[in-house]
Amino acid sequence: MLADKDRIFTNVYGFQPWNLPAAQKRGDWDATKNLMAIGQDAIIDKIKASGLRGRGGAGFPTGMKWSFMPKEPRADRPNFLVINADESEPGSCKDREIIRHDPHKLIEGALIAGYAMRARAAYIYIRGEYIREAEVLFAAVKEAYAAGLIGKNASKSGYDFDVFVHRGAGAYICGEETAMLESLEGKKGQPRLKPPFPAGAGLYGCPTTVNNVESIAVVPTILRRGPEWFASFGNEGNKGTKLFQISGHVNKPVVVEEAMSISFRELIEKHCGGIRGGWDNLLAVIPGGSSVPLVPAEQIMDCPMDFDGLKAVGSGLGTAAVIVMDKSTDIVRAISRLSYFYKHESCGQCTPCREGTGWMWRVMERMRTGDADISEIDTLYQVTKQVEGHTICALGDAAAWPIQGLIKHFRPEMERRIVERNGSGEAPMMEAAE
Ligand code: SF4
Repeated sequence: MLADKDRIFTNVYGFQPWNLPAAQKRGDWDATKNLMAIGQDAIIDKIKASGLRGRGGAGFPTGMKWSFMPKEPRADRPNFLVINADESEPGSCKDREIIRHDPHKLIEGALIAGYAMRARAAYIYIRGEYIREAEVLFAAVKEAYAAGLIGKNASKSGYDFDVFVHRGAGAYICGEETAMLESLEGKKGQPRLKPPFPAGAGLYGCPTTVNNVESIAVVPTILRRGPEWFASFGNEGNKGTKLFQISGHVNKPVVVEEAMSISFRELIEKHCGGIRGGWDNLLAVIPGGSSVPLVPAEQIMDCPMDFDGLKAVGSGLGTAAVIVMDKSTDIVRAISRLSYFYKHESCGQCTPCREGTGWMWRVMERMRTGDADISEIDTLYQVTKQVEGHTICALGDAAAWPIQGLIKHFRPEMERRIVERNGSGEAPMMEAAE
């Protein structure tokens, strides 16, 4: 188990105030100027050496992403850092804890990351529903400006850096990086076709890097304690500590910082008081937020909770939003509800997603009640394959994968419902037609 001394987020439960004096007591903003003095490329190298991979779900190496930014930005085309605080994935609830209880970690990280990328400013795009969190963030940014930590000659480093907080209006799709840029520009939040990638043409057509809140908030501590310290946690290729958000049928749901690659069993036993009704009562787990495929109980129990470990069992770490389901769960209904979510949140730009998400949800609803033909399970699977990988953004995949996971692991349960409802497995609708 991760020792308290190795925790980056020491106020994740809000036992202490979030404000600047309390943050400084926790070590934030301590000689930030010195951290910056090592130079922009040296900061990027240290982040590369730490093995930090993006905490927003995709897991792309953070230092490498930063290195894509132009080293000599043009005066009329400044670099920008955009911080994704649009946390809307069902199950995810870590960035809100950082923002409402430890916002200065994020603001200090924004300055250092922005400096490393030669960015003129950071835009923090916060989810519209996070009202109290946005209030804290606005107040924390104001404190940082008043103390000279950001703004002109930020932290006396000689570097000018602004931080803007922008509230979203409640659309899940604005968490997709290019939709976020559109939304920041005042347009409808619809993903852009890539290329060009944001590092080439991002916010206002300028080079931009979009990073998740947690990825940025860990940066000052990595520099203070050294990349080797951060890289000492986790398996090869999956380094560092991570905020896990465990919800559902555990005895004590929790957001907790742990070492990457901890096993699922250890994570649940040590922090959540075990599975409700005991381990034999575990049915399945969605390990990374609603868009990743579920993993049945027997496969997840001893699985390392990291990018590669979960990929090996056909799922993903995502944001490490671990949704635990015991045997009382109506698993078909649970996945159908997620299908409804993706149907609702599709931006409608591409046909496979716009039409496919609605179609998949309607069929999932019939699967839920058994009002279907057994052959439709294969049709449903084929349609998920036609949506997956054929859309502008990853929402199409996110809608397809949970259903694929359900069919892969719980097909007998789907068939049972159909047979139970109409005996032969033929749809009542078809019988009526005959
Ligand atoms: Fe919009 Fe869906 Fe296409 Fe993404 S995949 S751009 S959400 S229609």
